[in-house]
Amino acid sequence: IPLLQVNDLRAKIVESNVEILRGVNLTINRGEIHAIMGKNGSGKSTFAKVLVGHPDYEVTGGSVVFKGENLLELEPEERALEGLFMSFQSPVAIPGVSNDQFLLMAYNARRKKLGLPELGPLEGFSYLMEKLQLVNMKPDFLNRNVNEGFSGGERKRNEILQLAVLGADLAILDEIDSGLDVDALRDVASAVNKILTPENSLLMITHYRRILDLLKPSHVHVMDNGKIARTGDLSMVDAIEADGYELVSALT
Ligand code: ADP
Ligand code: MG
Ligand code: MG
Repeated sequence: IPLLQVNDLRAKIVESNVEILRGVNLTINRGEIHAIMGKNGSGKSTFAKVLVGHPDYEVTGGSVVFKGENLLELEPEERALEGLFMSFQSPVAIPGVSNDQFLLMAYNARRKKLGLPELGPLEGFSYLMEKLQLVNMKPDFLNRNVNEGFSGGERKRNEILQLAVLGADLAILDEIDSGLDVDALRDVASAVNKILTPENSLLMITHYRRILDLLKPSHVHVMDNGKIARTGDLSMVDAIEADGYELVSALT
């Protein structure tokens, strides 16, 4: 069975009742890397947030099956524990909670769900150090307060660190490459390549070719007006760069 099966998914913004997703269809199997491209405002981030259960949106139709289960019935926390990852950027820095404490807490919750014993502080710290090296980050990163004073690039690296620590069956990365310099982009891409296995999958949202060339998605989708308008392989990116999203979407 597919890892993720999305059928005719519709969703609206709770506050305004405006429908944003208008029938999204997408199937992701284990081991696949999917990229979603598309112009600003086409609904890419909304789709990602609806999958993880963001409270700003309400599903109005369709279905999402993840690992054989009805994903839409699960609370956001349960979706994460089931192995659906999207970075948890806390909007405000949490005073007195350092990044390592925060990460270890989240990881232990997932271990518990997987039936594994919790890691104590020492084991936990060496586990985190190992993952830190994987994403090529300095150890002082762990002592900082959560999200406090992280630069844009550091926040992106931290997102990958979260993924490395927690592990996931399906990771969703929304514009992980935006605002990264060339070196940071290469680090992020190489860390993602190390995290991916034939057993897990990646759904990445991006505007740029650079990260696609590094991660080589098996499937490239163009979202337009709340739907996936077109699906192809990496070569479709050439058409997008030459003709723009409008034309490529219209070729369905
Ligand atoms: P993309 O990620 O493709 O640029 P989004 O999913 O962020 O697009 O947004 C799609 C449309 O929905 C945009 O018009 C955006 O302004 C609107 N939208 C998304 N989320 C909200 C929200 N929470 N409140 C109001 N409007 C929203
Ligand atoms: Mg956008
Ligand atoms: Mg977006």
